[in-house]
Amino acid sequence: MKVGILKEPKDEARVAMLPEAVKTLISWGAEVCVETGAGQTAYADDDAYRSSGAEIKQRAEVLAESDMICGIQALPLEEISKMKPDAVLLGQMGALFNSELTKFLIEQKRTAFSMELVPRTTRAQSMDVLSSMATVLGYKATLLAANSLPRFFPMFMTAAGSITPARVLVIGAGVAGLQAIATAKRLGATVFAFDVRQAAKEEVLSIGAKFIDVAGATEDKSAGGYAVEQSADFIQRQKDTIHEHAQKADIIITTAQIPGRKAPLLVEERTVHAMKAGSVIVDLAASSGGNCALTQPDQTKDINGVRIIGVGNLAAELPQDASKMYGKNYLNFLKLIIKDGAINLNFEDDIVLSTCVCHAGEAKNSRIAEMIKQ
Ligand code: NAD
Repeated sequence: MKVGILKEPKDEARVAMLPEAVKTLISWGAEVCVETGAGQTAYADDDAYRSSGAEIKQRAEVLAESDMICGIQALPLEEISKMKPDAVLLGQMGALFNSELTKFLIEQKRTAFSMELVPRTTRAQSMDVLSSMATVLGYKATLLAANSLPRFFPMFMTAAGSITPARVLVIGAGVAGLQAIATAKRLGATVFAFDVRQAAKEEVLSIGAKFIDVAGATEDKSAGGYAVEQSADFIQRQKDTIHEHAQKADIIITTAQIPGRKAPLLVEERTVHAMKAGSVIVDLAASSGGNCALTQPDQTKDINGVRIIGVGNLAAELPQDASKMYGKNYLNFLKLIIKDGAINLNFEDDIVLSTCVCHAGEAKNSRIAEMIKQ
């Protein structure tokens, strides 16, 4: 069985597996072929892959010869057509929102796994690319903010006077938010955070930040650890609380998301106008609509001296460790579908079933099956 690793599109500096992950895969009895230059932007050259036991090939050869292709971004439809008919395709394809791709995969009777569908269970944690990339996002968001801030993060007492620590407000304390808080604390800032999940409060306090309570949040245990949509009254009280805290903040990092829905709008236009000149907002929810009313995805705007950064593919800005984490997530998932060096799909396994977009012309993930009915 041959696993193929392709070079990602131009805007993507990560690679699905670095040479060390390839080496592990080969030790399981698989052959691996890597497109020439695939690891270049993540600082892994062809020779490093060769030393790990992989063959280096041209893109067309990898597509035509592989029994399984592991990638990050979705492949164009015309390239999927060039794969072997029974080859397995894996990537972070956004299958729930990319109906053209999903329908094509089903019509073509392809077998495809979309890594963002890995369920949010304890057993699946080591395969969860969303969590590992959220760690990267939270860390990078704080660094981006620190680089844009015209002030220091830490407190200083110097002969040239005292510097007060920067004040950071983190909205949404999930994986990315907690990482943003931890990074801001390490840089010496005073950090405030809030979230609609009570479980997040203890985590925020345990890493030394202050938690802002807004009473009356809705929680739903059946949502599997995710936040659920809040009442209009709660959202309004939340916006008012943010408005009050934003005026004292130097930095706001927003990460609030609700799976499958538009991100909640929490930082209003009036709040941006009330913030101090020189403050910075980093909106990690930019691609799902943004938590700030003035966010533009993939753009940085200055509004009355307030910088608003609508982040795009921030994980690609830490390509080496992001690829390392991606590869480890992949290996943990592949353990479920590779046995004795051959592909072995067991749909009795809930992780395999949930992560599978389609197989043999049938949608496998239940949300995908619902989506294609519409
Ligand atoms: P996410 O990316 O879906 O959302 C980010 C954060 O925004 C969440 O903490 C959410 O509660 C918060 N949020 C949503 N609406 C909000 C609002 N109106 N105001 C303020 N905050 C709001 O979430 P995530 O970071 O992926 O994870 C959330 C939780 O799930 C964490 O506790 C995490 O540890 C857990 N988790 C578990 C697994 C697993 O067990 N395999 C995997 C991933 C995450």
